Amino acid sequence: MITVDDALAQLFALVSPLESEAIPLIHAAGRVLAHDAIATRDQPPFSASAMDGYAMRTGEVQVGASFDVVGEAAAGHAFEGACGPGQAIRIFTGAPVPDDLNHVVIQEDISREGTRITLTDRLGKGTNIRPLGGDFKTGDRLRAPRILRPSDIALLASMNIAKVSVARRPDVALMSTGDELVMPGEAPGPDQIIASNTFGLKALLDSVGAQARILPIARDNRPSLEAAFDLARDADLVITIGGASVGDHDIVGDVAADLGLKRAFYKIAMRPGKPLMAGRMGKSVMLGLPGNPVSAMVCGHVFAAPLIRAMLGLEAARSPRLTARLAKPLPGNGPREHYMRAFADNGSITAEDNQDSSLLTVLADANALLIRPVNDAPRKTGDRIDYLPI
Ligand code: AMP
Ligand code: MG
Repeated sequence: MITVDDALAQLFALVSPLESEAIPLIHAAGRVLAHDAIATRDQPPFSASAMDGYAMRTGEVQVGASFDVVGEAAAGHAFEGACGPGQAIRIFTGAPVPDDLNHVVIQEDISREGTRITLTDRLGKGTNIRPLGGDFKTGDRLRAPRILRPSDIALLASMNIAKVSVARRPDVALMSTGDELVMPGEAPGPDQIIASNTFGLKALLDSVGAQARILPIARDNRPSLEAAFDLARDADLVITIGGASVGDHDIVGDVAADLGLKRAFYKIAMRPGKPLMAGRMGKSVMLGLPGNPVSAMVCGHVFAAPLIRAMLGLEAARSPRLTARLAKPLPGNGPREHYMRAFADNGSITAEDNQDSSLLTVLADANALLIRPVNDAPRKTGDRIDYLPI
């Protein structure tokens, strides 16, 4: 058996970042920026008024001073004339401030009669001018790699970048294996169950940036498994579920080996999810997950999601963890890293009572995988403990 960290390191060694593609900005949210985005303009491209008011020279701004209003600047409409000493222009938010003016007095701080304005005794602080390039300048960068959040999209738009270079989404082929399985929506026979793992894993992997597809269910026989692998031939990552233990019907490993799988490892010191295989298979990476529904999902969080992130060019690292205080004590842990279904709320975390790895209802009730390191000592109420949010 190898540790979770060793297994992850070996998995990361199997993949390299995928190529990039240029896509319209409007579709870029949630994608991974592949190359630095570089501003080709200054923002604002001119000194801009931050308020509605009157623009004048700083040296002339004092309570009681009067000015002739000689023109107007509005957003999208610069003032083109001349504005001399003792003169001011009416200006609105977002309008260019003429070069020789350097102060905007807000309209609440003046009184006006006709074209004559007088500054009242309520002058605010500041010039109310946004300097040229105050947000970003030509050459400033939004650094890659990063997952593009709504605020990044707004910045890219402001940089006038209408096409963005992002990492291609990994093509993931998800394969259920088993004679007992039918697809959701079918009518199961008395000895059949519904294939749930592929659906949960697709939801998980798509959410971290993959484009997963669910293959037809492969039966526990060679021709059926070979046909399913054939459909997965072009995938970046092939994930099989089940059929990877030591039972007579667990032939996924044998069939994959005959199809060229160079196996990287097999058993992980982890609960749930001990049987796990991985390796290169043609131009794909193959990951074989256990069939038990909770094990499959936990391995999805612990192994498959970090693998997708690495393929997207993000840091090759464990899924990010949080910390909370135990609401109830826990007994010592054995020689396998344990991912316990748990509920975290407001800084405190409670492990679910039933940790059976076949119970999806328990997994659905949980919002955390509480992590017990190998041979972790018994833990008391209030101890700090790591978890993966799920
Ligand atoms: P296996 O590893 O094939 O022995 O499967 C272990 C357990 O997981 C068995 O009870 C299977 O019926 C179940 N199982 C395997 N694949 C799936 C799947 N795709 N969806 C739900 N349960 C599954
Ligand atoms: Mg099976």
